[in-house]
Amino acid sequence: MIPSNFNYIKAKSVDEAIALMDQHGDDARLLAGGHSLVPSLKLRLTDYDHLIDVSKIPELRNIEEQDGVIHIGAMVTHGEIVKSDLIKEKLSIFSQAADLIGDVQVRNLGTIGGSIAHADPAADWPGVLLATDAHIHVQGKGGSRKIAAEDFFLGLYSTALEDGEMITSIGVPVHTGAKSTYIKFMQPASRFAIVGCAAVINGNGARVAFNGVSATPFRDKDVEASLDRGDSAEAAASNAAEGVSIMSDHFASEAYRKQMAKVYCKRALASL
Ligand code: FAD
Repeated sequence: MIPSNFNYIKAKSVDEAIALMDQHGDDARLLAGGHSLVPSLKLRLTDYDHLIDVSKIPELRNIEEQDGVIHIGAMVTHGEIVKSDLIKEKLSIFSQAADLIGDVQVRNLGTIGGSIAHADPAADWPGVLLATDAHIHVQGKGGSRKIAAEDFFLGLYSTALEDGEMITSIGVPVHTGAKSTYIKFMQPASRFAIVGCAAVINGNGARVAFNGVSATPFRDKDVEASLDRGDSAEAAASNAAEGVSIMSDHFASEAYRKQMAKVYCKRALASL
């Protein structure tokens, strides 16, 4: 399929991208790695007169540590996260999750900011961001703000981003000695998560989050409370995905997904 005609604009800075969004309003869309947006344009599910390419803006491409927080620029690709020595050393759950995304081409072009803005329920980053108490930094015409990952994902393809705002970076606190893992039961062709489970144990206690299971990624506070009480991985995981609305599709029924959530939760916790 061929998309409708659009005007391609390459933004050189965040300020320029924000001014262009303000100028063109609903007729414009940001373009990052294009791995979700371009297929939807080709399928004519979406149609924009202007695409504002933000993928090469230098200030969105850094990975750096400041005051115990690692900031990952919104346009850092999944592949760059896999290769980052800082992330390998201090946030290994991010290296692990990035390495499980799609194939080499997807990892080389797809970005962490594009992925979380798109908020596909089967995407891997949302669970990881919830389990690591990450914040999403966003900027718009009115200034910048910081949104906790828990408040960012609102539903199927829906986030707390307001019109004219863009993601600039993701901030993740570093906890020395933390134990963490991300594993998933994946769709064999795309590698999108049918069930993704991120588990972290640090000085703040246990964090267990799921993506792929429900339309909105979620922290499983029953599992966390069970772990904080000192229950075994098996006992804690038996509480997983209870009391949430579980998705059902041709890859996995509701009952199967729920069972896989418990299985992958147990495996994740047992590996910590
Ligand atoms: P784009 O497609 O360019 O943009 C996506 C949306 O985000 C657009 O609406 C765009 O306007 C908006 N946007 C982009 N940047 C910003 C910003 N800075 N601020 C605000 N809005 C912004 N993902 C997984 O998690 N796991 C997988 O296993 C997986 N497998 C895949 C397999 C295939 C074959 C494909 C094609 C994709 C797969 N993906 C997977 C998705 C991939 O990770 C994409 O990178 C991601 O969904 C979108 O990121 P992008 O940089 O390509 O964004």
